[in-house]
Amino acid sequence: MDEKLNVISLNRKAWNDTQKEKFLIPVAKEGKIAASAMTEFNAGSDISRMELALQERDDMIIAKGKKLFITNGMIADYIILYGRLNNGQLAAAVVDTKEQQLKNFRSTRVRTYGMTDAFVSRLIFDRVELPKENLLQGHGLDIAFHQLTEERLVISAEALGDTMKKLLYSHAYALQRRQFEQRLHQFQVIRFPISQKIRELNLLISALIQYVRQLDKHPELGGSKLMAANTMGLKISSTELGFESSIHCFRTMGGRGFTRQYANEIGLFDPFCMIHGGGSNY
Ligand SMILES: Cc1cc2nc3c(=O)[nH]c(=O)nc-3n(C[C@H](O)[C@H](O)[C@H](O)COP(=O)(O)OP(=O)(O)OC[C@H]3O[C@@H](n4cnc5c(N)ncnc54)[C@H](O)[C@@H]3O)c2cc1C
Repeated sequence: MDEKLNVISLNRKAWNDTQKEKFLIPVAKEGKIAASAMTEFNAGSDISRMELALQERDDMIIAKGKKLFITNGMIADYIILYGRLNNGQLAAAVVDTKEQQLKNFRSTRVRTYGMTDAFVSRLIFDRVELPKENLLQGHGLDIAFHQLTEERLVISAEALGDTMKKLLYSHAYALQRRQFEQRLHQFQVIRFPISQKIRELNLLISALIQYVRQLDKHPELGGSKLMAANTMGLKISSTELGFESSIHCFRTMGGRGFTRQYANEIGLFDPFCMIHGGGSNY
């Protein structure tokens, strides 16, 4: 799963030309890896409670605090780090991890069930010095919510792709497997739930395409509360559909669903793990 782009804020107004050149272009074009660090022990769903300090001192920012559950944190070249300035306002700065060798910075893996490719990490910033020019423009919450809107669309696309795969497995198995001298597909109890999930999948794909087109046409909608809420709803529905499709897949495929060959592929936990990405669900 390519998590590289869904964790970097594309709020163009927040980035000046030098920052775009230095950080965004290497991520978009050269395969550099990015992470975005909001969540803390006491700031999960409620990110406004972030406490990490971004102390301004002369031409430096001193970062002090901890972050939790950060996708790609332990492999990132650049991290968008959210925290509080001297006046208490939330802000965001880009950390160049110097290939994870940055002084006074540590990252370790958090082992998760599901989304194991996301390299979810905990990060420690123990008075890490950052150049002040790495500070992004604008209020930290505005930057965060702009990013979350786009991230929710990426998560929805991932979850819908995951759903499609599971429905395909179930459908293909039901068509080909014969029991009681009939194909499983001929039993309503097998066929109906799959058809219902396919209908829901089509509906959510249409919504996804519509939101992406709107955002492409009007990038300023990235800062709209309505769009943030719509994409949040889409993310919840898409990840839950992925989870429900896993259940149908396990049921339809009988014992085979639990063999190593398929169980990992069906990946029950992935979509439910995805539901927690992209910020609060409420
Ligand atoms: C795989 C994975 C990758 C992640 N990647 C990142 C990342 O790259 N960067 C980053 O900053 N964070 C990341 N996170 C953290 C993620 O954003 C948080 O897990 C999420 O915001 C929820 O916070 P929490 O885990 O502390 O749960 P809590 O805040 O403790 O919430 C627990 C449950 O309560 C629900 N809840 C909370 N408030 C309410 C309410 N008002 N009403 C009803 N229910 C509520 C939540 O939806 C959740 O289901 C990641 C998490 C996971 C699992």
